Amino acid sequence: MFRAYTPAAYEFPLPEGHRFPYYKYRMMADRLRPLLPVLDTPNLPWAVAGRVHDPHWLRRWRRGEVDRHEVRAFGLPWSEGVVERARRAAGGSVAALDDALRVGWGINLAGGTHHAFADRAEGFCLLNDAALLTRLALDATPDHPGGRVARVAVVDLDVHQGNGTAALLGPLTHVAGPRAFTLSVHGERNYPFRKERSSLDLGLGDGVTDAEYLQVMRGSVLPALEAFRPELLVYLAGVDVLAGDRFGRFALTLAGVRERNRLLLAWARAAGVPLVSLTAGGYNADHALTVEAHASVVLDGLDVYA
Ligand SMILES: [Zn+2]
Repeated sequence: MFRAYTPAAYEFPLPEGHRFPYYKYRMMADRLRPLLPVLDTPNLPWAVAGRVHDPHWLRRWRRGEVDRHEVRAFGLPWSEGVVERARRAAGGSVAALDDALRVGWGINLAGGTHHAFADRAEGFCLLNDAALLTRLALDATPDHPGGRVARVAVVDLDVHQGNGTAALLGPLTHVAGPRAFTLSVHGERNYPFRKERSSLDLGLGDGVTDAEYLQVMRGSVLPALEAFRPELLVYLAGVDVLAGDRFGRFALTLAGVRERNRLLLAWARAAGVPLVSLTAGGYNADHALTVEAHASVVLDGLDVYA
């Protein structure tokens, strides 16, 4: 009944030795294909991307009318392929949202591009899928005048703060009776060095261990979700919290990451809250470990939702 989406078929040119972890998307899809259907991501219409991004800015990216400062902040060279890939990755998240609302759990083997702002690309992120899913779930439609759900929580456990998501969803979170709740557990001294304000920011020091991280999960993350009572949970399951990550400064083990995932998935399952899982970051020197850690969200989810 569950299925996953991957944009791995949509390749784009990268300079030799570039740090973007291209390999992991195809490897994740191959790892999981024996366990559940893995489908190509559908495309995201530009008009849908325009629900959270500035249409003029989108048009410039589409046409390649971007300057070198913008490209440097994005971190990937501009090409038609890289823009198409970003659309496909976000399209997978939208498809996963529909699955989550239908069967309780939706899976994108990409996405979680949380450093994208309304009109600014940063840190390999062009389109902010978590913010987009939140809007798509909350906003009125002809069939659902009150929105498809009343409250959305975005739980961002990538090691980097979800700055774009916090900024994009700020107007829905920093008000009385908030409809969205943004929670970020991240390295306080890590990128982005200028943090935005989430509903709850849990900025941790360097070298965080499994025990310390799981204490934060049990003592802060789950109680915050209990208090907010979301009707949809968007989970950015970044694995750059693992020891040995090139862009992380934490020291979790694979067992710690799996326990983290299980705590969140089991909470959502027990509370009857539909969950969308997005891949987000993971840049371990050990490629097989990166892939196994990303795949473990699905393995653990199949167990929890069995
Ligand atoms: Zn990250």
